[in-house]
Amino acid sequence: IFGAYFLGVLSPHLMTILKARVAAAVIYRRIRRTPVIDCYSSEGKILQNPKGKIEFQNVHFWYPNRAEKKILDGASWKADPGQTIALVGPSGCGKSTSIGLLTRLYEAQKGTVSIDDIDVNMLNIHLLRKMIGIVQQEPTLFNGTIFENVALGDESITEEKVIQACKIANADGFVQKLADGYNTLIGAGGIQLSGGQKQRIAIARAVVHNPPILLLDEATSALDAESEILVQTALKSASKGRTTIVIAHRLSTLRDVDKIVVLKDGMVQEMGTHNELLEIEDGIYAKLVKAQQFKDDSDEVKVEPKKYA
Ligand code: ADP
Ligand code: MG
Repeated sequence: IFGAYFLGVLSPHLMTILKARVAAAVIYRRIRRTPVIDCYSSEGKILQNPKGKIEFQNVHFWYPNRAEKKILDGASWKADPGQTIALVGPSGCGKSTSIGLLTRLYEAQKGTVSIDDIDVNMLNIHLLRKMIGIVQQEPTLFNGTIFENVALGDESITEEKVIQACKIANADGFVQKLADGYNTLIGAGGIQLSGGQKQRIAIARAVVHNPPILLLDEATSALDAESEILVQTALKSASKGRTTIVIAHRLSTLRDVDKIVVLKDGMVQEMGTHNELLEIEDGIYAKLVKAQQFKDDSDEVKVEPKKYA
């Protein structure tokens, strides 16, 4: 009875988190498994002043439940601190998997993935993940205030830091206009944000710890053209001073990244700037760009008659 009373006075989103944790524990018990990687471990190296150099060296990876399909088969590439690198390649070539390897969601069977020349498997996992901000296609916001959605219950995150992060993410403007500002409830029981606004809150969350590394996995793929521009601007400012790995569905957004890494058949097939890769005759990247231009052109033809309707 006391337990129920105690739970009842907790805020609803905290309840959601608790329920999710209990559910995860139940599932793990049912499938008789413990998580392979203990993300609460205090072991591992701590980087005092991470620079954000990223390197994949001859990385081989397959999902243990699908050993017959090699996802990465000797992939090598690197990003120097502060650079923006794009991962490009056909759907299913292992772009998102590479991000999973960097954050140690999975571990490479062969080769090394390193940050600042240290194998990610040797780093303290909690701090590794704090060093990395991630923005994915679908923002995962919960029913709570905007402040809570950015700070995620971390007590070291002050209101000042949240506002600073929202400024970087191009979100402070619309948040300040809300009646309750940063205390506005969002989601069920609160206001509904547009797709672009949600994504900008997700960007603020990704940079609130001021991480040296930012990973953008199709961060603008689910948005309409208008919000895409706002979110692109936010991403550009968020990536300043950080090593950024971008996976983009629209290749025309990669014109000024430092380097494009083209993955296919588990390996890096091409590497260079947008213009350099366009020069390669019959190049994979050049073909992908052409196919997309063709698609964009035909999309335009399709929407054009609406103007006169
Ligand atoms: P993309 O380059 O499109 O991001 P992914 O890295 O998501 O590709 O996926 C690479 C391949 O691995 C795909 O064939 C995908 O179906 C497969 N895959 C992704 N996640 C898993 C998983 N958890 N278990 C087994 N196979 C997976
Ligand atoms: Mg993907």
